[in-house]
Amino acid sequence: MQQPPGSGARKAPEEDDDGGGGKWSVDGDAASENPYAELVTRLRATWLSGKTRPMEFRVAQLEALGRFLDEKKQEILEATALDMGKPRFEAEFSEILLCKNELHETLNNLSHWMKDEHVVKNTATRLDSAFIRKDPYGVVLIIAPWNYPINLVLVPLIGAIAAGNCVIVKPSEMTKNSERLVAEALPSYLDKDCFAVVTAGVQETTRLLENKFDYIFYTGSPSVGRIVMMAAAKHLTPVTLELGGKNPCYVSDTCDVQIVAQRVAWGRFFNAGQTCIAPDYVLCSTEMQEKLLVALSKVVNDFYGSNPQESPNFGRIMGDKQFRRLQELLCSGQVVIGGETDEAQRYVAPTVLVDVEPSDPIMQEEIFGPILPIITVANVDEAIDFINSRERPLVVYAFSSNSKVVNQVLERTSSGGFCGNDTLMHVTLTSLPFGGIGSSGLGMYHGKFTFDTFSHHRGCLHRNMGLEVFNALRYPPYSQQKLGMVRAASEVKRKGACTLL
Ligand code: NAD
Repeated sequence: MQQPPGSGARKAPEEDDDGGGGKWSVDGDAASENPYAELVTRLRATWLSGKTRPMEFRVAQLEALGRFLDEKKQEILEATALDMGKPRFEAEFSEILLCKNELHETLNNLSHWMKDEHVVKNTATRLDSAFIRKDPYGVVLIIAPWNYPINLVLVPLIGAIAAGNCVIVKPSEMTKNSERLVAEALPSYLDKDCFAVVTAGVQETTRLLENKFDYIFYTGSPSVGRIVMMAAAKHLTPVTLELGGKNPCYVSDTCDVQIVAQRVAWGRFFNAGQTCIAPDYVLCSTEMQEKLLVALSKVVNDFYGSNPQESPNFGRIMGDKQFRRLQELLCSGQVVIGGETDEAQRYVAPTVLVDVEPSDPIMQEEIFGPILPIITVANVDEAIDFINSRERPLVVYAFSSNSKVVNQVLERTSSGGFCGNDTLMHVTLTSLPFGGIGSSGLGMYHGKFTFDTFSHHRGCLHRNMGLEVFNALRYPPYSQQKLGMVRAASEVKRKGACTLL
């Protein structure tokens, strides 16, 4: 675990003449030297030494990460239960199984992913070697949120290691038990010259971000995403931003209401609603709303019993601040299912709201809790207009037994991902890219996409030293005849274009 020897409040950045980093004035006892500079320098030296490049090294580290998951399974389940009452099933599924899937997918394919990709050549380069080299970026920073405190650290880390980088991971400081577990146990499985866990709150993370990284992978809220992107911009560091937002869920009039209710309720109430891809609100007709309410009421009872507070299958809100925010959101519309809260346990019952106006507070921010508002619309066109009038979400959900309706919603909306006739399940496929668009994020990961995210795709041409007579065609003195031959050897022709005219 790496902790800063000292940290101070940031006052204001002053641009360097070369724009290459900026000097930061700090308050009080903060050292002028950045408290993380030494760590970053050390990891960069390791990266430059080439230690992380061989496939054998990457595989050994990934296998060690797998052992962390196996050997610390019980501790992971306990930590996530302590942090937010995460039910064991949900923790095993989301924090362990999904990480293992990513790990196995990566280990199964790494040798293939790492290979140079040979590309099409033109006549001028026919005897040469043209390929894409998957180069590690260097020293990368991974910043994770609290809602899946193991998964959202390890899944990007798997790809960063696989791609041959040195890595600093910064788990969320909000989920103390999971943070401690990651900080204390994970480093003993990994090579300390290459990988470090930094425990840091906002102030320390601000200082961490002053350093020059070669890639920053951030998961969290859009507002902090902006701060991270601004810090990255100072060094022209590329970023992936995995952010949040409000995910709409359209339910058409033609579908099996009970099945829809089950699938929507599972997605909304899993992890007590603290899931970035949870369906945030339902859009449906007034007639469908009536049927859905009956079905949802039955589902909540089937899933969690008559008193969900006593159910071992329903989680808790992570913190007091988050709990109070949700309590205030319950004032929007009218509660028809649930609505009970218990501050001592940070319990918010699985709740469904109706008569919610688009201007209500609950429709202005990501809910991130077990509350499902229903907004009524006249038809699919109105639902699509509603979705398109708002920020682009991380995922759009559409339910209908008529696949044309599902496809209509897919074709006429824009979002990071899409899932028809279910919720959350798209995230279980390592073959699908996962990420946002617009205010829900930038970039993508999972499976090979994580490896690609952490790899610079270096375009390489390795030329033959012979045949200079052909190369001489491009050298001065220029002539029209030479230009014609250079064109013939390097031109990309439009397919199907008539060459006779
Ligand atoms: P957050 O933005 O508050 O914190 C995320 C991380 O950023 C934490 O490690 C935190 O320490 C750090 N941080 C916070 N303020 C900072 C600052 N001013 N400067 C630098 N670093 C700072 O987010 P959260 O509350 O932990 O997580 C919830 C949000 O994350 C939701 O919006 C949710 O949708 C989103 N999320 C997105 C995904 C995804 O994959 N797209 C996954 C999970 C969560």
